[in-house]
Amino acid sequence: MGPLAGENLAPRFPERFLARMQAWLGSEVEAFLQALASPYRTGLRVNTLKISPEAFQIRSPFPLSPVPWCPEGFVVEDLEARPGLHPYHAVGLYYLQDPSAMAAAILLDPQPGEWVLDLAAAPGGKATHLAARMQDTGVLVANEIQPQRATVLALNIERLGITHAILTNESPPRLANQWEGLFDRVLVDAPCSGEGMFARNPEAIRTWSLNRVRRSAALQKAILLEAARMVRPGGRLLYATCTFAPEENEEVVEAFLRARPDFDLVDPMRHPAFDRGHPEWIADGDPRLIRTVRLWPHRGPGHGHFYALLQRAGESRPHRPKPEADLPGRAQRALEAFWTETITQPLPEGGLILQGDQIYWTPMAPILWRGLRVLRPGWWLGRLCQVRFEPAHALAIALSAKAVHRVLDLSLDDPRVTAYLQGYPLEGSWESGWALIALEGFPLGWVRAERGRLKNMYPRHLRAIGWWKTQASKDLQ
Ligand code: SAM
Repeated sequence: MGPLAGENLAPRFPERFLARMQAWLGSEVEAFLQALASPYRTGLRVNTLKISPEAFQIRSPFPLSPVPWCPEGFVVEDLEARPGLHPYHAVGLYYLQDPSAMAAAILLDPQPGEWVLDLAAAPGGKATHLAARMQDTGVLVANEIQPQRATVLALNIERLGITHAILTNESPPRLANQWEGLFDRVLVDAPCSGEGMFARNPEAIRTWSLNRVRRSAALQKAILLEAARMVRPGGRLLYATCTFAPEENEEVVEAFLRARPDFDLVDPMRHPAFDRGHPEWIADGDPRLIRTVRLWPHRGPGHGHFYALLQRAGESRPHRPKPEADLPGRAQRALEAFWTETITQPLPEGGLILQGDQIYWTPMAPILWRGLRVLRPGWWLGRLCQVRFEPAHALAIALSAKAVHRVLDLSLDDPRVTAYLQGYPLEGSWESGWALIALEGFPLGWVRAERGRLKNMYPRHLRAIGWWKTQASKDLQ
């Protein structure tokens, strides 16, 4: 084989991969390889459940530039910034997400009140974006098959203050057997060979092979067919990968269209930086595949991504029973006593349930999810301890600070922010009971007032993670 374009960059990538990309991209391959080799600038998506993009831009500690296809999306221009370690991250003002991944929620376009399933959701970038676009209404089921990744997903859903999400740890066939035709929209962000992540993930380069591409494609075809079973007639299905290989993209969609003729490709919203799909890159490609979308690292600010938006023919509204309040009297009384003393907004209606000793509010009737592995059946409110109720961190973080009677609202430069996030008790003269610590009006977590001190209730597993651990105050500048 003769010298490849971009050969100076070539040693980082498998030769076979380079040859394939050159065949498809032609003269563009040079710019493509340059982009893959450039330092990665992280994307930051503002959590619109907490703050508007405009308000965040004013207080942002980092220089930002807009993501052209996502009004709440930005690129952090400072390569040295560590936005994942900042207290604004702890209070859920943003999620760090690749700009190309932000296109998923834009293309699927979920509406408030709908029922939406994210079938492969961890760590939660796209799921939390869907919830924000749904204004945290309706039902979002965020599923993740791998237990450890599902735990990270739970932390992210919690941190962003999402209440209408149910987290499951299931395989696609088990969900499809229970939830035939139940959802208005389904997202399949499929496991893939990860070529689009080469710029950031040396592991993806090391483990790349054509065999891996083919194995991924077989798995993707199977997952997509299961996902389709859960879309109601008239509903939509978005297939996504972060890889360039046509075997995992156009070819998977082609096989799907053949197996499910009741689905058709929708020509979605197009941004000038989006490329069309390439039926000519596969054998006998269906011409409709040009309606799929490809995002390239050399044409926009993000990694490589592929999207296919599909619609199921027909129209029907599935029966969706409403969740009913099902709290035993003892739990109800404990929760009400806490709520009256601590919180100004009304208790959520319907859907209050007790699982073991934990109290949740669920947006989906338990009859629909019984028998499945459910990590969180909804908004985690807290724990029943004998006759007392102890609030969960997830309750604090999804409330507005205005909804709590006793709030200690701190500014970013107040040393008590760091002290709180490190787990230290704070001084305070409140009478005994629960109070909220907030950062500029955004809940950080609970304290319990006891004898002139505020006992720190910030979860131990979160104390180890953040900026406050490193005390790197330079991150704030
Ligand atoms: N949507 C996620 C986000 O935006 O943060 C990223 C999802 S990642 C691309 C693909 C996910 O599929 C992984 O979390 C992986 O554990 C999961 N997965 C792997 N094998 C699977 C299978 N057989 N069925 C469903 N999901 C699977």
